[in-house]
Amino acid sequence: MIVIPRDYVIYSFSKKHVSKYRARPGDRIVFKTLDALGGQIVDESTPLESIDWSRVNPATGPLYVEGAEPGDTLVVEIESIEISDRGVIVVVPGFGALQDKSFRSRAKIVKIRSGKLFFNGIEIDVKPMVGVIGVAPEGDDIPTGSSGHHGGNMDVKLISTGTKVYLPVFVEGALLAIGDLHAVQADGELCVAAAEVSGEVQVKLDLIKGRRPRYPVIETMDGYAIITFGVDIDEAVYRASEEAVSILSRAFNIDFEEAYMLSSLIVDIRINQVVDPVKGVRAEIPKRFIKLDHLLYP
Ligand code: CA
Repeated sequence: MIVIPRDYVIYSFSKKHVSKYRARPGDRIVFKTLDALGGQIVDESTPLESIDWSRVNPATGPLYVEGAEPGDTLVVEIESIEISDRGVIVVVPGFGALQDKSFRSRAKIVKIRSGKLFFNGIEIDVKPMVGVIGVAPEGDDIPTGSSGHHGGNMDVKLISTGTKVYLPVFVEGALLAIGDLHAVQADGELCVAAAEVSGEVQVKLDLIKGRRPRYPVIETMDGYAIITFGVDIDEAVYRASEEAVSILSRAFNIDFEEAYMLSSLIVDIRINQVVDPVKGVRAEIPKRFIKLDHLLYP
């Protein structure tokens, strides 16, 4: 088993990175991860002004995957997620869905025990998920706090145990990195942070040669979700809709007009997050209507 320690981190996804860790398709790898704040919030009295923002959003990696070449798909199956017994939530003026309101910077530490998170007296079911998962992009470096065709800070609550993530490969070796675990996060991630935790993720890798999706794709028990992004939610929704209609057209061999109609009946557009540098949505299509093949392009 390959274990990548939590001090082996990147702050941008980049084709220029060189990795000392190598794996093959079929291998299992453990990524040990810091929380999204780089572990800098030790207690609720830590002033947010004291944080080194260059150490925020660390992603563990990169990992070089042997045989991965541009045009392929890297398949990352999330086999298990273990998280710490404390989470951190922050609010910072100028950030989040209500960023223009007048409020103070604040950090809150929450205890996590036996699958529950305790926020004051409120008990919330823990659903560990991966916020950042991505590969090196085709062009310029992309900070680990942002997202795009390469994946990155997608903050999709579906990326949890049992999920498969399909990432388009742009550079030799793919250069996979993972970080930013959340004990629990709702769609939207309104205040800019979820219950941020350190932990470890075990994944199993696979490779699909010569075909890849246009956007990162998530496979759950019930369906496929196409992850898109935009400067605002409207742009992200446009891209998700465009790709979903294109996939339906391929899957059923129907023209644009009919695929467009069908999309209104079977495609759910849902919000991932509204708070990151680019906003993210997903188009969910149930498995009974499409196959993985319809999501991949030569
Ligand atoms: Ca995040």
